[in-house]
Amino acid sequence: MKKILLLMLLSLPLVSMTTGVKKTSSVYICTGPKSTVYHSNPKCRGLNRCSGEIKAISLADAKEMGRRACKICYK
Ligand SMILES: [Zn+2]
Repeated sequence: MKKILLLMLLSLPLVSMTTGVKKTSSVYICTGPKSTVYHSNPKCRGLNRCSGEIKAISLADAKEMGRRACKICYK
């Protein structure tokens, strides 16, 4: 019995961690077809040549889209 209780207690913070990390950090992306990165700053000069729109999304979403961190604003 004690073991089960301990397991439950240990798994609780894990669950809240995985479900709680929604939209904690936003990044900025260009919706243009040639864009493959995400930016920490919407005024980054890497976004100057953006042919689409600049959109704020969550970091998790950007990674899911297969985007890499911009080399200009992430040093
Ligand atoms: Zn950038």
